[in-house]
Amino acid sequence: MTTIGNNLERLRARIAAACAAAGRAPQSVRLLAVSKTFGPEAVREALAAGQRAFGENYLQEGVAKAQALAGAGIEWHCIGPVQSNKTRLAAEHFDWVHSVDRLKTAERLSAQRPAGLTPLNVCLQVDIDGGANKSGVPPAEAAALAHAVAALPRLRLRGLMTIPEPVQDPAAQRAVHRRARALFDALRAQGLPLDTLSMGMSADLEAAIEAGSTLVRVGTAIFGGRARPAP
Ligand SMILES: *Cc1c(COP(=O)(O)O)cnc(C)c1O
Repeated sequence: MTTIGNNLERLRARIAAACAAAGRAPQSVRLLAVSKTFGPEAVREALAAGQRAFGENYLQEGVAKAQALAGAGIEWHCIGPVQSNKTRLAAEHFDWVHSVDRLKTAERLSAQRPAGLTPLNVCLQVDIDGGANKSGVPPAEAAALAHAVAALPRLRLRGLMTIPEPVQDPAAQRAVHRRARALFDALRAQGLPLDTLSMGMSADLEAAIEAGSTLVRVGTAIFGGRARPAP
């Protein structure tokens, strides 16, 4: 088996163990393979090892890979910032956008989603820890944005996405992820039909799964270290 295939196998076992420790079913957590900076060959290897959903940060890079792998049955997720002048790329070439943090972006995505495609799945990116990474809607504004986005015709609001500042201590990781979970539960209690809590990466997926993540976004543990930072 390839290195990527072995890594995926180990990662699936890691996710299953985290689910077992949390008393959750292993199928309750989806794996998104973050392929940013890696070429179509790496994606093909992961695909051959049974991985179907891939995440990209940089829209042009993701579109190039989606075109190189057209027809392969891949589900493409945009997990990076979407500037207003790039919404069309996201709306036309991706199945999901995790990083919606303002209504204007959501309105453009809805207006530009091609009629022949199913509605675009979106998550709201929430600035859950007020960290140096300032992307994301503040938690206090998330409910208003969620209701507005849920009303857009060509989008399907699926849930929330967080990218906390990296911390080593598992208890600190869990504390932040629990805040996201509490916000997710509060929005669902308001009647929003959310099913996706996108949180947890290579270094904190156990803490995220314990707190209720339904989708972990993993790059390094599958593809190895990135030679260059994602743009
Ligand atoms: C790069 C990235 C990931 C994956 O991070 P790893 O630490 O390599 O697993 C997940 N989510 C987002 C938004 C990213 O930019």
